[in-house]
Amino acid sequence: MKITRIIESPVALRSNISNALVNFSEHTVSVLAIVTDRIVDGRPAVGLAFNSIGRYAQSGILSARMIPRLLKAEPDSLLAPDGTLSPERVLACSLRNEKPGGHGDRACAASALEMAVWDLNAKLAGEPASVAIARHFGRPARDDRVAVYAAGGYYYEGQGARGLADELRGYQQRGFTRFKIKIGGASLAEDLHRIDAALEVAGSGAALAVDANGRFDLQEALAYGRALAPYGLMWYEEPGDPLDYELHAALAAEYAGPLATGENLFSHQDVKNLVCFGGVRTDRDVFQMDPGLSYGLTEYARMLAEMEPRGIDRRRCYPHSGQLLGLHAVSGLGLGGCEAYPGIFQPLGGFEDGMQVENGWVAMSDAPGFGFERKSNLINEFARLLG
Ligand code: MG
Repeated sequence: MKITRIIESPVALRSNISNALVNFSEHTVSVLAIVTDRIVDGRPAVGLAFNSIGRYAQSGILSARMIPRLLKAEPDSLLAPDGTLSPERVLACSLRNEKPGGHGDRACAASALEMAVWDLNAKLAGEPASVAIARHFGRPARDDRVAVYAAGGYYYEGQGARGLADELRGYQQRGFTRFKIKIGGASLAEDLHRIDAALEVAGSGAALAVDANGRFDLQEALAYGRALAPYGLMWYEEPGDPLDYELHAALAAEYAGPLATGENLFSHQDVKNLVCFGGVRTDRDVFQMDPGLSYGLTEYARMLAEMEPRGIDRRRCYPHSGQLLGLHAVSGLGLGGCEAYPGIFQPLGGFEDGMQVENGWVAMSDAPGFGFERKSNLINEFARLLG
């Protein structure tokens, strides 16, 4: 099998919403297709993917560096022993002549390529990507259902605490039992008012997480921590800068509840540093690395290999994502669950059309690959890409 073309295009996220640091109205995502010379039903076999959500399209890195490396490579050098494209080899080739460290936009660019290989291989085998992932990584089977929570509660102009409660009530009516809202974009007093309103719907702190998106310095993180502690929240997410392990450790020494972080760690070395130097409590903290942002599943498996020997159960992993790539990663690797963004971050966010959340769970379908063909607004973007 040979790669004949790789096509990438930026797609705009249709979301004018804000967290504590970022407004998403100008955000983009790279959608990407790897086209091969393998003919199935009269058409070339194609692998589709995108670079998750939240770190912009990576058209420049892909078109100037990574795609030319893959197209120049000796085709057999990219294959696994069974003749399919190897995700590990495709990743390694896309990173040829790159220095180590500095895992930023490059990690997101590479992840779109690596994830497209999983879509391609699963489709060629006529199976869901989650099944292919489970087998590849030696798991007995995929999880047939995945725990999800509704990640919303962004700051909307003029919404107010009542509007926030109504928003969460809408998610509850769609089958969600756990929720996450943003903090840090308003005063502490106003955020506590929002939390009180959210708890009226969530019912208990154990069903509500809050996310500061890395905004706080240590003093602010501690002040929020003291105010949040009595609520017994599901978790307190990204209080400070994701790479400030000293801050994380200092907060963990005082805040007894679960802390969550990791969505902005893009390498197994960063994860190792978090676990070794971030004051992580293996019995309660939550890890949110997103394979769609961090070199794909190959690197995600290396992250797990740093965590599990240090006592962290993979069920404590809840990847950032809220899209189909993350859903299949959770099912295939047997992780704890993932977030969902009901109705926002379209056309990338969300799962297959008609996939229902029941009592906080989503049942995996039997669609081949990542199931993009069953998400109409997203497959339209891929169809446009392929011409
Ligand atoms: Mg977050």
